[in-house]
Amino acid sequence: MATMTAPPEAAIVKLDRSSARIKWITAFSMMTLPGLGTAAAAVLLWQGIFTATDLWLFAGMYLVHMFGITIGFHRYLAHKSFKTSRFFEGVLMIAGSMGGQGPIMYWVTTHRRHHRFSDRDGDPHSPNLAGAGLAAKLRGLWWAHMPWMLSDESSSWRFWAPDVLRDRRLFFYHRTYQLWMVAGLLLPAAIGFAVEGTATAALTGFVFGGLARMFLANQAAWCVGSLSHMFGGRPFDNGDRSANNWPVAVFTFGEGLQNNHHAFPGSYRHAVRAWEPDLSGWALTVLGRLRVVRDLRQPDAAAIAARRARGPRGDRAAA
Ligand SMILES: [Zn+2]
Ligand SMILES: [Zn+2]
Repeated sequence: MATMTAPPEAAIVKLDRSSARIKWITAFSMMTLPGLGTAAAAVLLWQGIFTATDLWLFAGMYLVHMFGITIGFHRYLAHKSFKTSRFFEGVLMIAGSMGGQGPIMYWVTTHRRHHRFSDRDGDPHSPNLAGAGLAAKLRGLWWAHMPWMLSDESSSWRFWAPDVLRDRRLFFYHRTYQLWMVAGLLLPAAIGFAVEGTATAALTGFVFGGLARMFLANQAAWCVGSLSHMFGGRPFDNGDRSANNWPVAVFTFGEGLQNNHHAFPGSYRHAVRAWEPDLSGWALTVLGRLRVVRDLRQPDAAAIAARRARGPRGDRAAA
């Protein structure tokens, strides 16, 4: 991919005042309201007002949320690292929408822009652009974790994701995002009610499997943009600060292996070595064997060795 030093005019759109306000209120609500639910879950746990069903709902919905974002939105939609049926595509888009990280056009355009400008001017969420010194680094880390979503700019749909824009069946999941996001909150309430048969179970299912799950899974996911671009191992010289952060990788099913991922963005696996934690990569390998997904892309051993030997981005551009 050609390197780009400054964002082109068409790639980043400055929002008008009312659109910026709507974006701010939406993003702020999605960041904070599930947090209130998490506080409620903590009180319920402390008071002993929960059942095993609530804990299973939390775990089950965490899996749906994280697989939806990592396999669906990230590896399938943003990077096209494998192919699948229209049916399973729908399953992935609905599961990803339940994550509450925004509709697919927002997600894909933001993410592709992140790869293009990784840790340089134009990156929507780099923790490394706030300056030198401890205070600036901490400020950058916090900004890249959440407040970046409150910015008054948007990534151009036409520039970053014309392929998704053209695909009417895929775009359907963009238009119906809110429906799936709310369904992801109500589903655990309905299951809680069906299993336990009480209104309290519906409420605790909503709190544990809906709100607390959304908040905690997204906190983990946002660590990919913050911690995994600051702390961790760097086996590949990508010309950015992407790092392999194992704790983040465990909670995000492999996404914390950012250094590997920026070296091979089109690979369905984020692990380069077998022991690196990449639950979504392992799941895709199994789904490939079951023929649910196909044409799984990954670099072979020679490509990995060649990439390891290669110098930083500047050398690569010249090669
Ligand atoms: Zn990254
Ligand atoms: Zn990516």
